[in-house]
Amino acid sequence: APAADGPLPVLGRDVTVPLVTGGHVTYAALDYAASAPALQRVWDDVAAYAPYYGSVHRGAGYLSQLSTDLFESSRATVAAFLGCRPDDQVVFTRSTTDSLNLLAHVLPEGCEVFVFETEHHASLLPWRGARVTYLDAPRTPGQAVRTLERALADREPYGPALVCVTGASNVTGELWPVRELAAAAHAHGARVVLDAAQLAPHHPVDVGDLDVDWVAFSGHKLYAPFGTGVLAGRADWLREAEPYLAGGGASRRVARRADGGVDVDWHTTAARHEAGSPNVIGAYAIASACTALTEAGFDALVARERELITRVREGLADVPEVRVLSLFGDDAPRVGVLSFVVEGWNSSHFAAALSAEYGIGVRDGLFCAHPLVRTLLGGAPQEPGACGAPEAGPGERSLNAIRVSFGAGTPDEHVERFVRAVR
Ligand code: PMP
Repeated sequence: APAADGPLPVLGRDVTVPLVTGGHVTYAALDYAASAPALQRVWDDVAAYAPYYGSVHRGAGYLSQLSTDLFESSRATVAAFLGCRPDDQVVFTRSTTDSLNLLAHVLPEGCEVFVFETEHHASLLPWRGARVTYLDAPRTPGQAVRTLERALADREPYGPALVCVTGASNVTGELWPVRELAAAAHAHGARVVLDAAQLAPHHPVDVGDLDVDWVAFSGHKLYAPFGTGVLAGRADWLREAEPYLAGGGASRRVARRADGGVDVDWHTTAARHEAGSPNVIGAYAIASACTALTEAGFDALVARERELITRVREGLADVPEVRVLSLFGDDAPRVGVLSFVVEGWNSSHFAAALSAEYGIGVRDGLFCAHPLVRTLLGGAPQEPGACGAPEAGPGERSLNAIRVSFGAGTPDEHVERFVRAVR
């Protein structure tokens, strides 16, 4: 497909930031993998609706009716964006992290969980209470499938199981063989949840086509930074479990019992896990982003992003001090996310210099994927903080990495400036 003519309009295009060398420069936001700027279209849609918002599912007034309609039609838009099956549920959450914790909450009794150690912590950590098998980092997509198959074939007894896979790594940007992993999981009676936090903003995600059971993603990485995420997929586990949050909105009928307690009849729809007043602006913003990306056309967006990542790869290729991090090989297909280290540089200082001297915003650290980054850096010992890493002393080898990431709103100039700055 031909590449899109240029970037989609996003907020913040004209923001300028000061340079240590004097003067100001337009900010080059190259940290989309953390949070992407809002699409102008999303902002305009939200602004047009803002005077009319009201409580969802809780009011007789016109604006409450309007807001309820908008909330539910946003759910339908997201379902269509994800290619959901007719019986799937779309639950609005706060984020991918929240979505995966919700799924962890509804696991059936005795469910085993399988997850690669290479995942983001949001995929690695929510499965408390379940028996979790952490799978070793594979070095090829084929090895990932074989590793999963072996682990699933070995499991005993043969009860419910869930495999959590990433669509695109938030560290290397590499695409994972989701369809093949899902087929392997299903062949062994396991279900699959796709962490699409980094995939959905860059690639079409079709749950039917990929044959995954659930998909999770975040609005703020999909150009809709209004505090909403999504968990979409099979209704049965969601319907059968206790509500994730207990409260108004999740309950259909509550009555005192003769013995003094209360009987609760919970909803069996997505509302079961959405107690409390929902974030209608966030839901509408996600739906607006889904519509905008669909209308722009993923073929063109993917083609343009491939051009940008190629420029980055080629621009860094002949800088001997730069080492790009990858599991599947430097030329493996990836979304617009790439991490690297620079020999002789502390990554934090390097990232700080990109900001201070060039007005470029990247991220440094361990990217909330400590086991993966350790594997990629060769197992350097460290005691990192929340999602960061300790400082390397002057002249010491870097214990963390630098990540550059971009997407549909990135102008060519930002990528060109980044390459020039690194070189
Ligand atoms: N999974 C992946 C692959 C991610 O990159 C992220 C965010 N960095 C998350 C999950 C968590 O997303 P959120 O912080 O929006 O919950």
